[in-house]
Amino acid sequence: MIKRIEDLFLEEEKILAPYAIRSSMNGGRIFPEKEHELRLPFQRDRDRIIHSRAFKRLEYKTQVFINSEGDNFRTRLTHTLEVAGISRTIATTLGLNVQLAESIALAHDLGHTPFGHAGQDKLSELMKSYGGFEHNKQSLRIVRKLENRYPGFVGLNLCRETLKGIMKHGGDYEESDLNSERSDDGPSLEAMLTDVADEIAYNSHDIEDGLEKNLISPEQLKEVQIWRRNIGEAEARFRDTPLILKLRFAIRSVLNEMVVDLLKTTDSNLERHKVKDIRSLHSVWRTGIRLAVFSDSMQEDVSELKKFLTENLYRHSDVLAMSQKGQEIIEKLFHYFIGHPEIIPDSYRQRIEEEGKFRVICDYIAGMTDRYAEQLFSGI
Ligand code: MG
Repeated sequence: MIKRIEDLFLEEEKILAPYAIRSSMNGGRIFPEKEHELRLPFQRDRDRIIHSRAFKRLEYKTQVFINSEGDNFRTRLTHTLEVAGISRTIATTLGLNVQLAESIALAHDLGHTPFGHAGQDKLSELMKSYGGFEHNKQSLRIVRKLENRYPGFVGLNLCRETLKGIMKHGGDYEESDLNSERSDDGPSLEAMLTDVADEIAYNSHDIEDGLEKNLISPEQLKEVQIWRRNIGEAEARFRDTPLILKLRFAIRSVLNEMVVDLLKTTDSNLERHKVKDIRSLHSVWRTGIRLAVFSDSMQEDVSELKKFLTENLYRHSDVLAMSQKGQEIIEKLFHYFIGHPEIIPDSYRQRIEEEGKFRVICDYIAGMTDRYAEQLFSGI
């Protein structure tokens, strides 16, 4: 039997929690489209995101270590896939819309520049007088304007709920040009949780990459409570096991602790604040209460871990040297293209008249992979 979209809508109705976003009430797309016969709207969104050019380029964009540093570190792509995995687990367990959570996760870092946060900071500084640059807003810009794959519309024409989830990534609800399209006053639970899934992913995988690169040591990590707890368990359970396997066990356990804590705390918050449907979800949100959070004690542990990673990994001299090199490349390319806008690719150049050369050159540079930026840099 082939399940058609009507069957899928009905199946969804049976498994989703009352405060989950239903595919059948997703608010539609900005350019109206007929539903696909066999795929739910958020499934289509997920597939559109995966087929986009910006998604493919995530493979060669820095997470913490630039691509040329080695093949065993996270890239923006593997980070994104880990966030999507965590989001799927969380959404499934809480009875939320898994495809919506996954779509938001897969798109959440599309707007990142080459060379990670260092790249974003440099581009934001260069664009200060020309409308600024912020990677979350850039993710939205990519899916709404810059991708060009479909004859009937610009961008990917994602569902409004997916767009709102991408827009809200990075904290509280952000005012933006999507305001006029808002059909509610707050983020979906799927969006709130995907935000935290991002944090869970990088807090745990950056430990692994930092150890692998020998920028932090297992000894040093013992000053962090959540690590001490989990490596202690590994040492007690696997006495004659090689150290690397104990370390990996502890990294997985740290991740698992954060996910389980988030799930339990969110679930009890939903109950405590009597969230029965989308409407009550948004009423609670408007009072300033945050439902998708860690418990107080886990929040302390996570803050301590973040502080450790900032001081010992993100501000490590090797990482700062890579960041500085990345920033030099971005700055030089920016000034070069401002002086020579005629040499940027046609697909970008044709928007100069409408958006001005600074914005267009910013889009071009933000879209580059590390290696493409390095290649251009060495040629100018
Ligand atoms: Mg991220």
